[in-house]
Amino acid sequence: MADESANWTLVIHGGAGAMRDMGAAKEAKLHAGLVAALRVGGDGLRRGEGALWAVEAAVAAMERSGHFNAGRGSCLNEAGAIEVDAAVMSGDDRSIGAIGAVPRLTNGVRLAARLRRGSPHCLLVGAGALTAGEDLPDFTAEQSPPTPQRRTRWQQMMEKAKDGKPPLADLGGTHDEGDTVGAVAIDQAGHLAVAVSTGGLWLKTPGRVGDSPLAGAGFWAEDGVVAVCATGTGELIIRAGLCAEVRASMLAGATVKQAAADALDRMTAQFGLGAAGLIAIGPSGDIATPFHTAGMGRGYVSNRQPTPTTSIWPDERGKR
Ligand code: ASP
Repeated sequence: MADESANWTLVIHGGAGAMRDMGAAKEAKLHAGLVAALRVGGDGLRRGEGALWAVEAAVAAMERSGHFNAGRGSCLNEAGAIEVDAAVMSGDDRSIGAIGAVPRLTNGVRLAARLRRGSPHCLLVGAGALTAGEDLPDFTAEQSPPTPQRRTRWQQMMEKAKDGKPPLADLGGTHDEGDTVGAVAIDQAGHLAVAVSTGGLWLKTPGRVGDSPLAGAGFWAEDGVVAVCATGTGELIIRAGLCAEVRASMLAGATVKQAAADALDRMTAQFGLGAAGLIAIGPSGDIATPFHTAGMGRGYVSNRQPTPTTSIWPDERGKR
């Protein structure tokens, strides 16, 4: 039931990265993709849908758009194939649905969400995840070939990699458009949730799983504590236990801004600049969107700020 006076907030990201040479047209596309996702999720929260519904809907919208490194727009592995990672977590009971390295799937967040409700397991990988989802009612896998843009980009990257694969930090997302996607939300009842979806890193080894479907690394949601989602170089985010760090600081009494900033600072001190960004919501609806990369597509919408606000660069209006 919608309560006009109740608070709700949705925060999303469209990936953190180097984002060199983006150009005005691609920036506009990234903003438009973020706004569309905020509208879908925000409208749901306004009419009383739960946080989990909103994060799943926002991430599914970005997967469908083809402009992010997720769903239709996923980057390609060394073999030129799509393998996706995705996850959802509900803050009320801490239930998780997560998938890793699932071949050719373009609606990864829907599969993760379906498995959260229908499977006793938290994380399933590869073809087994797909089979488990298809065995459940109300799930249809969407599988499509890579977009022509991603195919061309893959050829260019393979050509460049002839003399050796670039460092992991240079393989995140597409660098010229939207990247990995994620969402955190608090609903009118005060429940928290998170969802994330990604094609991972360009030219990754087939079978590689990044941070995104790993609880405590790429995401966490716990009512009364925090909903948080990471983006950046997965191998470093996993080693930093980035989202678990944010949770620990929140439990110790930090504000969400402080907890997220400190976790990133510690990660940067250990592994260097340029590796990651976070979006987070605390139990009172406060938000944080810090990043230690050149840019991070991000945006938020709430009952107090009903028009979606989006930004990419550090100095833009709307930066939080
Ligand atoms: N964290 C993702 C991964 O390593 C990539 C990203 O966020 O851009 O798979």
